[in-house]
Amino acid sequence: MGQITASQNMTLKVGKQEFTPGNQFVAVTQRYSKQTQLKDSDMVFVGYGIHAPELGWDDYKGIDVKGKTVVMLVNDPGFATQNPKLFRGNTMTYYGRWTYKYEEALRQGAAGALVIHETKAAGYPWGVVQSGAQGSKFTLLDAKDNADKLAVRGWLQKATAEKILKTAGYDYAKLKSAAAKPGFKAVDLHLATNLTINNTLKRGTSHNVVGMIKGSKYPDEAIVISAHWDHLGRDPNLKGDQIYNGAVDNASGAAALVSLAEAFKGTKPERSIYIVSFTGEEQGLLGSTAFANNPPLPTKDMVAMLNMDGMNVSGKVDYALLFGRGQNQLQTYLADAAKAQGRHLKDDPKPQDGYYFRSDHFALAHKGVPSLLFMSLGANDPEYIAKRYHKPADEYSPSWNLSGTAQDMALIYEITNKLANSRTWPQWYPGSEFKAIRDKDRQ
Ligand SMILES: [Zn+2]
Repeated sequence: MGQITASQNMTLKVGKQEFTPGNQFVAVTQRYSKQTQLKDSDMVFVGYGIHAPELGWDDYKGIDVKGKTVVMLVNDPGFATQNPKLFRGNTMTYYGRWTYKYEEALRQGAAGALVIHETKAAGYPWGVVQSGAQGSKFTLLDAKDNADKLAVRGWLQKATAEKILKTAGYDYAKLKSAAAKPGFKAVDLHLATNLTINNTLKRGTSHNVVGMIKGSKYPDEAIVISAHWDHLGRDPNLKGDQIYNGAVDNASGAAALVSLAEAFKGTKPERSIYIVSFTGEEQGLLGSTAFANNPPLPTKDMVAMLNMDGMNVSGKVDYALLFGRGQNQLQTYLADAAKAQGRHLKDDPKPQDGYYFRSDHFALAHKGVPSLLFMSLGANDPEYIAKRYHKPADEYSPSWNLSGTAQDMALIYEITNKLANSRTWPQWYPGSEFKAIRDKDRQ
């Protein structure tokens, strides 16, 4: 993989206006190159930047964006309108995630893609975007050192987007509401975009750790269970504690994975069980993406994936959290296993934040493998997200109560065991963004 550090000494010029990085915009690249740029690239506002044939939605319809710079809104029209019949209403779809928007822009041949930040729609404040773009970024490298990736991936502060649109003669609020309606047409702003990013480059290697229990009857079909072993490392610029221990996120999951491997040792499942400890999750699902791109068996033969990211260390609860309601049939497996424990299913309390698209299971879902996320989100400890999540304070505490972790591990064991000893293939539900990929793979 490559470690790319963008110099913050850059200026975004749109038409005659200039913007500075940090408060007004941020920009990075995945190209492993000392310099990447947008040179007199025409700017086009593409609404939500979504091409979803199964929903009859195409923000790129009738416009050629090759070599251009596309600007788009974060989240999706369902969130914007809170209309449950549009996309998935308040629940974020993959089309709402910025990762999707960059992928689609690249497929459309754009040179640059800029997502307009709004805190509510993104689910986190500008500070997260800003700190995320600074410092070293790790990225997977392809055979061409990512020369075919977008030259620029960036974010605009809302105020920056408002200024740009105003110059082109448009009102941000009006365009935004038009973009949430079916039949929206992209708007060529006829403004030249110029931006040069200078990068410092470094190559590196990291490893996933993969274990396997071979199936006794159907070794070529597999259930994958996983947890990421990486965290954020060390920040020498911090005063006091500089070490990101990541005790909950995700030493708890990594430990649970080892325990589950031990529990399955000596059992003879009919299908194979892969036990995978991923690297680089915090850097953008790098290990799981590498695994999905070069899988030990074809992804179409992976029956299901169960991923743990942040276990519940605050004691037993009478519910099991479900992320991604309506995505796939694994939710019925989860409901059944939870019921057997006297628990009920509880929906992810913030479906608009798109957690279903934010951990390693998603790299496999993206390839059509039905997957499930186990994340406690601090469970009955809301202070965790506020004070310890992704901070050096995510440390082990003797006050941890692991009965909640054990409860979830029993659940994961149950589901894995059930799937590993059946002929069933859990399906994506109609309307899921990932159904078409799987259906094509397994037709
Ligand atoms: Zn994590």
